[in-house]
Order: sequence, then C-alpha cells, then structure tokens
Amino acid sequence: MRRFLHAQGASRGLALGRARVRHSQVFDVAIESISASAIEGEIERLHLAFDVARSELMDMRQKLQGVLAHELGEFLDLHNLILDDPELLHGLDDLIRKANYSADYALRLQRDRLASIFDGIDDPYMRSRREDLDHVIGRVHAALHRNPGSDVIGLAGDVLVADAIAPSELAQLTERGVVAVITSQGSALSHSAILARSLHLPLVVGAHEAHMKIADGDALLVDGASGEIIIEPDAEDLRQFKRMQRETARERKALQRLRDAETITLDGTTIRLFANAESREDVAQAYELGASGVGLYRTEFLFLQGREPPDEEQQFLAYRDLVMGMRGRPVTLRTLDLGADKADSAGICVQGEPNPALGVRGIRLSLAQPGLFRAQMRALLRASAYGKMNILVPMVSCREEVLAVRQLMSHCRDELHAENHAIAKQVNLGIMIEVPAAALALPQLAYDSDFLSVGTNDLVQYLLAMDRGNEALASANSPLHPAVLRVLLDILKFGRKRGIPVAICGEMAGDPLFTRLLLGLGLREFSLHPSNLLELRRRIREVNLVDCQRLCRRLLRARDRSQLEALIHQGNHG
Ligand code: PEP
Ligand code: MG
Repeated sequence: MRRFLHAQGASRGLALGRARVRHSQVFDVAIESISASAIEGEIERLHLAFDVARSELMDMRQKLQGVLAHELGEFLDLHNLILDDPELLHGLDDLIRKANYSADYALRLQRDRLASIFDGIDDPYMRSRREDLDHVIGRVHAALHRNPGSDVIGLAGDVLVADAIAPSELAQLTERGVVAVITSQGSALSHSAILARSLHLPLVVGAHEAHMKIADGDALLVDGASGEIIIEPDAEDLRQFKRMQRETARERKALQRLRDAETITLDGTTIRLFANAESREDVAQAYELGASGVGLYRTEFLFLQGREPPDEEQQFLAYRDLVMGMRGRPVTLRTLDLGADKADSAGICVQGEPNPALGVRGIRLSLAQPGLFRAQMRALLRASAYGKMNILVPMVSCREEVLAVRQLMSHCRDELHAENHAIAKQVNLGIMIEVPAAALALPQLAYDSDFLSVGTNDLVQYLLAMDRGNEALASANSPLHPAVLRVLLDILKFGRKRGIPVAICGEMAGDPLFTRLLLGLGLREFSLHPSNLLELRRRIREVNLVDCQRLCRRLLRARDRSQLEALIHQGNHG
C-alpha cells in the first residue's frame, strides 16, 4: 500500500529503488527468550544468516573494481575473518542452547562482550577495529531479518535505509550501485551529507519513522532535494517521477549553456567561483564547468577509506593528479581535518573524546601527530611543482598554530630541496575562519596568512553552539542569525581593507538562497560543490550589486530569524 514519509533532503537527486533496511538496532535488542522446542530452529536460522552474510561479502569482493578496490578488499577480508571465527559462532550457539536466548539477543550479548574486549586494548588502531566487529554483527543481524528467498546479494538498485551512515561507507555504497540512502538520524550539514553530494548520491536524513514504515524489499521513490519518500508508489507517482526526471534533464541542459559564460553581475562585477572537491571526478567537473580553480580540497577523505593512512608517496600522487587536473588554475588543498564526525578507520583520531567537535580535530590533530603531518606537508609541497597550489589549514584558533605550520612548511621545503625535489617558489598558506576565536582575532591571525577561507558550516555551529550533525537543531542551525551576518560582514570588510583575499567555502556559498546576501556583504570569491556551480552562475548573472547591497543593509538591521527569513525570501522573489 502506498505510504508517504517526509524528512530532510541532504543530497539532491531522484531515485527509484528497492528498500534495503539495515537494522543496526541489534545493539538495543532487549532480552528475548525462546522455548526449548524452538532452540534447534533458532540455531539453524542464525547459521543461515551467517551464510548469507558470507556470500554477500564474497559477492562484494568479486565486484570490487577501480581505485578503491584494494583498500575495500582488505576491509572485506577482515570481515570474513571475523565471520569465520569459530569462537564467535560457538559462543552464539551456546547462548541459544544453554540460556534459551533468541538469536537476536545472543548476537547482542556476544557483540557487547567482544566490544568490551576491544575497548580495553591499548593500541588505538586495534581499538578502532571494534567498528568492523559492529559492521559484521550488524550484517548478520540484517540477514536474520530478511525475507527468505529475497535477493540478498547485490545491492545495485537498492535504497539503503539505516540509522546513520558514516562518510567512510558512502564511497563503498556508490561502488555497489546503491541509488539512494535514507537515514533516521543525521543532518544536511554533516560530512556524510557533503560527501554524498560529492558522490551524486541522493540522501534523505532525519527520517525518524523510516524503520517503522519501510520494510525490506519495498519499492521506494526518493527525492533527495525535498526529502520526500514514497513507499510503494502508485502509477501516478511513477508518471510524476518520470516527468521530474525529464524536467531535471531539461534544466541541466539549459544550465549547460552557461558553461562558457562569464560569472558577472548585471552591473558588471566579476565574481570568482571556485569548486569544493573531494575526488578527481569533482576536479574534472570543476574544470569543465569553468571554475576559477579549486577553493577547497578536503584531503581527509583520502584518509577515510583505508585501514592504513596513505603514505607520503600515495598522497603526493593524489595531490599531483589534482593539481595537474586543473591545468594551471589554482588548487587549494586543505590539510587533514579529521576528528569530530570525520572519524577515520586508520586509528588516527583520538578515541572516546567526551566532546569530539570541541576536541583534537583539524590542525590540532595534525600538530599532535608530527610524523603524519610532515608526510602530508612534504607530499603537498612536492605536488606544488605541477601547477598553482595553495595550502589551507582547518580549525585554526590561535596564532601559534599558524606559526607551527609555517615552521613545518619551511623545514619540509629545506628537506625536499636537499633531496633534489622540485617545489613551486611560491605556495600560499591560508587559514580557515571557522572558529569564533579566529574570526575575532583576525588582525593577529591574518598577519601570518596569505588568504582566508570562511568555513560557515563550522563557524555557524560554533557561533550558535549548535551541533551541525544534530537533526533536532537542523532548522535553527542556519546562517540566518544576526551574529553570523555581523561576523561575516566584519571578516569581508577586514579582507578588503588589508588586501587579503577572502573566500567562503561552507555549504552556504553554494546555496542560491544566500547569493544576494553574500554579494551584498562584499563576497567576491565563492567556493562550492561543482554540481551547484552553473546554477549559482545563473543567479549571479541575474542580479545587480546595488540591489544586493540594499537587501543586505536591511538584513543587517533585522532583529531575529523570522525577520531575516521573511526578508531573504522577499529579496529573492521580489
Ligand atoms: C566548513 O566548516 O564550512 C567547511 C568548509 O569545512 P568542513 O565542512 O569540511 O568542516
Ligand atoms: Mg569545517
């Protein structure tokens, strides 16, 4: 029967697929007993689920291709090893046979027992393997609840329905042909959402009722822009879906005409559009769409895929390809910004921090891991010989951090010269303005920086003290707050006065809702995902700067969010 769900769109795109529900609630399964006569059947059901999990892993292993094949293959092998561990299965059988527990509850008990062993290990890498244990147990649990006879192997054409999705899982899902993801938690500002947009994978987040309303195997229509989900769509829905697909294709074609157009306002001010990129595909797209360069390359996504962090040579090759890919246009590579919601699988992040968003994240983590940071800096400097490249430092909160990076840069430069490596004469060093302290101490910090890039995703999170990943705060966590506008105005004024280039690279820069506001505030360099680039170019070509400035003055006088919202919608439609 047709059902409807509405949640938050986090990565746009339309998809039609079959629900694949992941029941990670194995960790919340309450105590469940079974009768003595059901024991053998329950054990058989559990063993069958193990077989299903094994054959899924084997199938995925065979289908892996491309750049991620090697790293992902290692993951899968490890998961197979865990599945084949005789202790695991015997322990489960015992729990069912001797304590009369259901297979679900036995799985939960075994998982908790093994997790506490992992938690007690000193080595952070080994400790982080607990995540793999959870994946394996979660896979067996999901297999326990799948309809017998359903296609449990391939995931091509599936819509994954899960509680949450980690950034590290997303690339794997697209490789497997998953057409969309729905999560009951999460927010559109999370790093998973950013990565989903980069992978062009439709994502709907905050769908609290997803697990109640969607069953494994249901047909789903997903709109990643509006957040609408139709379960078991009817003929009219399917016709509407086809119409929307055609409209999107027409719109895309119309936008394509702007590929070679200038990004210029009606009154003749040229605006520079840079791309945010997470992959080589993004860079190729940015180049083709006429981006002025790459304004933000998030290097941490290279570190989220493997069990080992990439070494200097692997990083150098990746960065060199990116720099060459832009054929002389500048590429700004950001140093590692791991931590908070970007926890790695290689055990680099500090585990178990009480408050990771305020913890050892970004530049703090890099400075705490000198060997790792040195390898990255060397790789970056080596890549600078292949095109115009800038280095950007995330999460800066004080001058000491900038000075420490400068010192490392100069030390690596000397080392590389002595080793006869080519390096560009000039590599500019910029800082992200995303911590309120950095925004407030600009004169001190900018003194040692060649350029500034405002990370509004974090700046808004830290200014408003609202977790960007918390769906309960999704509507309040918005740049439409007087404090945010005031801070952005001050940063842009400061840059103009001192002649320091300022870009904005948070998601706000790519949202046409804010274009007039940002132009009015004085922004001339936007950095955004390439999939929004043509739309933004079109928007900019339709506006007069004087109108934007007028709108902006009114917005700066507004006292609260409802006034700001009303004004911005008026300004965009008036
Ligand atoms: C930001 O915080 O706005 C930003 C661009 O960085 P990230 O989203 O990677 O934290
Ligand atoms: Mg940030």
